[in-house]
Amino acid sequence: MVIDSYSPNFTAPDDCPICKRPKADGVKMKNSGVFDGLLIECPQCGQYELRGTEVMAASFGWAPELRRALSCAARQATEAGEPLRVTKGGEAEEFADPHMRTRVSDNQERLLREVAKKSGRPNRGARFSLTNDFTLIDCYSKEEFVWYLEWLKNQELVFQTAAGPDTAEVTLSMEGWNRVQPLPRPGGIPGRCFVAMWFSDETRAAYDQGIEPAVSMAGFKAIRIDRKEHNNEIPDEIIAEIRNCQFLVADFTGQRPGVYYEAGFAMGLGRPVVWCCRTDEIPKLHFDTSHKNHIAWQTPNELKERLYTRIRMTILEQG
Ligand SMILES: [Zn+2]
Repeated sequence: MVIDSYSPNFTAPDDCPICKRPKADGVKMKNSGVFDGLLIECPQCGQYELRGTEVMAASFGWAPELRRALSCAARQATEAGEPLRVTKGGEAEEFADPHMRTRVSDNQERLLREVAKKSGRPNRGARFSLTNDFTLIDCYSKEEFVWYLEWLKNQELVFQTAAGPDTAEVTLSMEGWNRVQPLPRPGGIPGRCFVAMWFSDETRAAYDQGIEPAVSMAGFKAIRIDRKEHNNEIPDEIIAEIRNCQFLVADFTGQRPGVYYEAGFAMGLGRPVVWCCRTDEIPKLHFDTSHKNHIAWQTPNELKERLYTRIRMTILEQG
């Protein structure tokens, strides 16, 4: 259905529905013309879509905390090339949620990777707009972003090359490059466990109630990198984290090519891999790996118990 006005019940907002910045700040909005909703482009939130009257109505009541995290979610989705689409009630909360719980140390690593991405080469400055770019990582304000930048400078991971009232330009030090592009380390960093799995609603409980608690109970830190699958390309960030891990947990539920790739890469580096798969998908496992001793699980709790035992037996006692 093609309609001109996204809803007879609402007037188009004057500001970005997520961050509330006014049009004067460069926020652009238009009716889709194809679906019942708005296309928004905001210097802070990137590009995103709000679809349907339910979402439009809900957007007026979004709490400040939710809007701050959602702004980060929308901006980072835009940067990843897959702009956010909010299509039903409750979805905004779901998108925002992981951005509300980011660990400070993870956020700092992320900023370092942003600097590397923006500068591209050694000795080339990465320029950030302080008012617009704090959402590139999970920051709620310009001040928070500046705090992270200051710490990167204090640790000499970056050097400031230029500064203005609203801009900061920094370049990575050799130490900074080493962090972003770590040299292969035999054995990885003790205590780190990379989790390769299909990230979706269907597997969320398997991670939250199964893998993560099992890994922590065994005394390790679970590292997972949420990502949209992009032309089956494995981002550098994932390669770096696999190099850094002591071992890898791979869950093959969903049969994602990325999981096979990541498990194979870890094996090539000599890292132990713990293989898991939901019972109903065991027959679908790829031939080359189907002979591995998989933890076949039916419930997240079963996965937790068995994975914990397996980690104790194979990583702690033999490592
Ligand atoms: Zn915005």
